[in-house]
Amino acid sequence: AKGAAMVTAVAYRLTEQARQIQQTMAEFRLSKAQLLEVKKRMRQEIERGLKKTSHQEATVKMLPTFVRSTPDGTENGDFLALDLGGTNFRVLLPRRLTNGPVPPQLFDHIVHCISDFLDYMGMKSARLPLSFTFSFPCHQTSLDAGILVTWTKGFKATDCEGENVVELLRDAIKRKEEFDLDVVAIVNDTVGTMMTCAYEEPDCEVGLIAGTGSNACYMEEAKNIEIVDGNEGRMCVNMEWGAFGDNGCLDDIRTKYDQAVDENSLNEGNKGEDKMCSGMYLGEIVRQILIDLTKRGFLFRGQISETLKTRGIFETKFLSQIESDRLALLQVRAILQQLGLAGTCDDSIIVKEVCGTVSRRAAQICGAGMAAVVDKIRENRGLDHLDITVGVDGTLYKLHPHFSRIFQQTVKELAPKCDVNFLLSEDGSGKGAALITAVGCRQRELVAQ
Ligand code: BGC
Ligand code: MG
Repeated sequence: AKGAAMVTAVAYRLTEQARQIQQTMAEFRLSKAQLLEVKKRMRQEIERGLKKTSHQEATVKMLPTFVRSTPDGTENGDFLALDLGGTNFRVLLPRRLTNGPVPPQLFDHIVHCISDFLDYMGMKSARLPLSFTFSFPCHQTSLDAGILVTWTKGFKATDCEGENVVELLRDAIKRKEEFDLDVVAIVNDTVGTMMTCAYEEPDCEVGLIAGTGSNACYMEEAKNIEIVDGNEGRMCVNMEWGAFGDNGCLDDIRTKYDQAVDENSLNEGNKGEDKMCSGMYLGEIVRQILIDLTKRGFLFRGQISETLKTRGIFETKFLSQIESDRLALLQVRAILQQLGLAGTCDDSIIVKEVCGTVSRRAAQICGAGMAAVVDKIRENRGLDHLDITVGVDGTLYKLHPHFSRIFQQTVKELAPKCDVNFLLSEDGSGKGAALITAVGCRQRELVAQ
């Protein structure tokens, strides 16, 4: 009888444990009603960003890009493209590129790399037009002027915030005294992505990045962009939706784990980061949950390892592997072991479920945001039904086994009056920027004539 009682006790403890784990996971599971609410709030934030009276305090900034049209297919020529993104920066000319890590004296180093590149290409004497893909929020007053609002993605370089990064680049080129370049445009990566896809698919009027950072842009009616004069036609708006929720409007769905991620981030209290959706933070949310479950004795025999205490261990590529349906549990366990998180098979099951729950919520919140965008475009145009293409890039979208599917499903469910086609962009940062330079050069020629 004593043995039976013990078995019952163990079984009870296990089911109680499973129940508590499920309870934690439940905080991350959003109902359709909640997602519709997220969509509605995104729409409210969009309006705030666009309106002159509320733009200043708005969190979702809706930054004008001065890109007024998508490509018409006649664009060509040699354009130098610079791409400063998540972890790398690149200098490219049609299909050739050089890669380098991101250094402290940012702009001097960039110019140094351009110099090497031009030497290599034997093009130092030509005064090439250059476009600069700069994947950070910028207040633009023209195609070739962008004041950095704030660094994101854990980026830090001194004395750049509040500065016109195009001028910083031009100054660095002058200091070098080796070559001349015509900086024509500064371009957000979302915009480059939209433009690249629009080159192939004319109804592509939205760009999405789901990668290290998360953001979208779309063609808004000029009359709705109150901080820019002129009411004719459309202009692409860089939403900077990573700041969605910074004013507390998502607090009811934020968990204590999201809170912990915020407190632990490199830029604690710094606004403008999408800490629920971007690849840079998903792994951190996972880590916070795992720490908590371990503390409660549900994982890793209750032992919090040094690894688990290390920020940034769960890169997007690990989450993608762990969540892959093609991996057997033993392989998941092996991955965790490689990471320094040795555990049982049961531990692996739990870790996999945690990862899946966190990335599902991210895909759904992104999807709700996108649903708000396409529905707004539809309403802008007074349509009952909208067919539209979204150009997409980003490691989370491209590498994760479930993110894109859940994201797409969510858009479909929350914006039933829109038929949204998703097109993967091939090197939007490079090609798209060159296209914008071409469009920009054309606009300047028109003005000059
Ligand atoms: C930046 C955006 C960028 C996005 C995707 C965010 O952190 O603020 O400008 O588009 O990341 O790279
Ligand atoms: Mg206007």
